[in-house]
Amino acid sequence: ILARGRDVCKRNGLLILSVLSVTVGCLLGFFLRTRRLSPQEISYFQFPGELLMRMLKMLILPLVVSSLMSGLASLDAKTSSRLGILTVAYYLWTTFVAVIVGIIMVSVIHPGGAAQKEITEQTGKPIMSSADALLDLIRNMFPANLVEATFKQYRTKTTAVIKSPKMASEEAPARRILIYGVQEENGSHVQNFALDLTPPPEVIYKSEPGTSDGMNVLGIVIFSATMGIMLGRMGDSGVPLVSFCQCLNESVMKIVAVAVWYFPFGIVFLIAGKILEMDDPTAVRKKLGFYAVTVVCGLVVHGLFILPTLYFLITKKNPIVFIRGILQALLIALATSSSSATLPITFKCLLENNHIDRRIARFVLPVGATINMDGTALYEAVAAIFIAQVNNYELDFGQIITISITATAASIGAAGIPQAGLVTMVIVLTSVGLPTDDINLIIAVDWALDRFRTMINVLGDALAAGIMAHICRKDFAQDAGTEKLPPCET
Ligand code: ASP
Repeated sequence: ILARGRDVCKRNGLLILSVLSVTVGCLLGFFLRTRRLSPQEISYFQFPGELLMRMLKMLILPLVVSSLMSGLASLDAKTSSRLGILTVAYYLWTTFVAVIVGIIMVSVIHPGGAAQKEITEQTGKPIMSSADALLDLIRNMFPANLVEATFKQYRTKTTAVIKSPKMASEEAPARRILIYGVQEENGSHVQNFALDLTPPPEVIYKSEPGTSDGMNVLGIVIFSATMGIMLGRMGDSGVPLVSFCQCLNESVMKIVAVAVWYFPFGIVFLIAGKILEMDDPTAVRKKLGFYAVTVVCGLVVHGLFILPTLYFLITKKNPIVFIRGILQALLIALATSSSSATLPITFKCLLENNHIDRRIARFVLPVGATINMDGTALYEAVAAIFIAQVNNYELDFGQIITISITATAASIGAAGIPQAGLVTMVIVLTSVGLPTDDINLIIAVDWALDRFRTMINVLGDALAAGIMAHICRKDFAQDAGTEKLPPCET
């Protein structure tokens, strides 16, 4: 029994530590609340948690660039263009559907409470229309300077032009008007402004392109994806750069593998620090429960209804039989939280139980493990909107569209490793100006949700292989003797 217990601890060490750290963090947080720490003491106490956040942010750039470039470079245009285009189109489409499911779920369940104010009011950023947000999104997709894109993103600046008989034409940032109103309530400026100007002054908003601090991850994602596709087309001459990217990707994943051992320690301080800061921790705990239920409901709808229905409509085969064949892979995904680690078992299940053509599985699965993460995309959209709800921010239609596009892009950029989605979450939050530090609101339940979303990621890849095998069956029947697809890296 002792030996078995040791074995279980060894295999699930990180999981056990994560569960413990969440518990310890909660207990410590509630205990320290009774001690009434000063804000300075709380900020020192939060330092290990801050380090965890810094580590996560530090990994974004190498993770996104290396995952996308090495993953997409495996699309060899000569040998697999049809399969490649179909697979990538299918992956993008199902990921986007997953995001929509997530957005519908979080909007219906509303786990974070009712929204009351716009993001701009709280963050002090200029007022911006949806059209400006959309233009910024497109600008961010095509950064003029890649180096600048690692620390700046495009964000339209809005200024208000006040036209009145007394104040001929004063230009001021839109926020400044509000600040005058608050800060100089009893001073001459605002009172004169209010008394002298009847009828009220005409205020015209003027938007012009600008930049703000923060990495333009979307631009980096688009550039890396394009580079990856081009490298794949270059054949042998692209090999050195592809090898470099693979090596970079592996080394980043090794860093992540080491860093995750720090995570349980950091989580204790993140959770406890948040509890110390919160006005009413019980309310947020309840909301966190609703948030987890929302993510799980979305995953169930997508994984058990939408994807199997799609499989049935395209192949006219029974999806339950197919899913039964990959059950072992789904359980491994649940246990490891990593679609990359599950890859060998997914191969085995598809080849032995579902009799998928080996060449299709070799191509579709590794690409899927890199770019197709329906569960992750759904979770990122739900989490971003949940954070907005908890902060009482009201998202407009343009911001919802931005979230759906960036959640899709962020899931493509996420690696198939435990909690990679948490790292790329920053992309979605920064794209609409939500506070990235609020990731620590959801970190407490992330280790659990990660397991469920990884199952859906693996399920999506496997069903895609089944669908591609059906669509391309004629191409591969004619070509049964030759192996044209890239060799399996696993
Ligand atoms: N753990 C997930 C996977 O490996 C990625 C994530 O969402 O964090 O597919």
